Amino acid sequence: SGFAALDLAQALVRAVTDLGFTQPTPVQQAAIPLALMRDGAGADLMVSSQTGSGKTAAYLLPVLDALCRHGAVEADRAERAPERRGRAGARGRFEPAAPQALVLCPTRELAQQVARDAVDLLRHTRGVRVATVVGGMPYAVQLQRLAGASVVVATPGRLLDLHRGGHVRLAAVQHVVLDEADRMLDLGFAEDLAEIHRLTEGRRQTLMFSATFAPRVQALAARIMRDPQRVSL
Ligand code: AMP
Repeated sequence: SGFAALDLAQALVRAVTDLGFTQPTPVQQAAIPLALMRDGAGADLMVSSQTGSGKTAAYLLPVLDALCRHGAVEADRAERAPERRGRAGARGRFEPAAPQALVLCPTRELAQQVARDAVDLLRHTRGVRVATVVGGMPYAVQLQRLAGASVVVATPGRLLDLHRGGHVRLAAVQHVVLDEADRMLDLGFAEDLAEIHRLTEGRRQTLMFSATFAPRVQALAARIMRDPQRVSL
């Protein structure tokens, strides 16, 4: 398929094939090669994109590729690989989750859809788990799923609530994605995004997707991104 030429982990190519994706969409074709972490590369990207363009896979595939290359195994080869679930701490308490990838979304509905897409793309991978952190869901359920998750898909306010509660560490985050950045700003998340930015200073890559590059989106990008490449379609 056209995805084979993108140099993605084999388990991800198999997943997109299962999902019936034959050719990358234009946003995927443009963004994936720039975002892939190769030889220390992996650019910060600002991408203008609409819902329906295939934007979700455009950021999930390069981020999941990086996680797959760091420790995950293809499911078929991982006969009973030990599940890295949340480990109980010395006193029987759960250690805080320490995800490597964070996807921030404006709404619960979008976050849940993105998490479903990530799980679909990880169907041939073991060792990379996905958790959703959104308002309106019982804390206990979210904490349980958060333990051992490498990818967290979250709305900004709820993520910070869990961080303040000591349930999630953000210091190990390598990849931050802002999906529908313009809508997150419209919904008043600018300060939360700035705080998450401070808490993830060690990250290697920030990918921002937005319907527009309006001045307020550019101002956010200037605060949180390093020399972003722009993809406008
Ligand atoms: P999105 O813009 O991310 O909301 O994606 C819109 C829809 O397109 C979703 O249902 C995806 O599963 C689907 N999709 C994403 N990439 C492709 C592709 N390369 N080929 C066919 N369908 C795709």
